[in-house]
Amino acid sequence: MAWIVQPLEKCGSDGLGIGIFHLTAKSDEGGPLYVGCDHDHASADDAQACQEARRKIGGITGFPDGYDEKRRVDSASDDRTANNAVRHSYRVLSDAEKAQMVAIKDKGAEFLNLIDSLRTPPEPAGEANGEPFAICTFDRELTIAAEKVEEAVMWAVKHITA
Ligand SMILES: [Zn+2]
Repeated sequence: MAWIVQPLEKCGSDGLGIGIFHLTAKSDEGGPLYVGCDHDHASADDAQACQEARRKIGGITGFPDGYDEKRRVDSASDDRTANNAVRHSYRVLSDAEKAQMVAIKDKGAEFLNLIDSLRTPPEPAGEANGEPFAICTFDRELTIAAEKVEEAVMWAVKHITA
């Protein structure tokens, strides 16, 4: 069983968001949705930052560590350990997590090099303005394959740093 802890926006009877956010917790095995506080938080970030909500949710899930300020550093600080365009704070990675991230990236680089080695070499095609030039073949399949490898690395790293 895992807990899904996230800020959610309240909906009106029409099903549309009404601009009020609460930090919530729900088990992935079903059961009630627990709401962290009664405040009318104006944004998901606000709701996520609410100390009262974090305390209450921590008490329900038994994982107060997940919201321990000491494990998070400000995105503006030099201490940040990972880049993420969406998150506003970054968890400090453990040594094991750092090693996992490096392993994933190394495997990805190895795979990308292998794909690159399959590319059609440029073909010399004479001279233009006194400079030799070559014709390159656009290997579409390999470009797609390389993009998918980059995507796989990105998702795996996202899991490790989540
Ligand atoms: Zn609150």
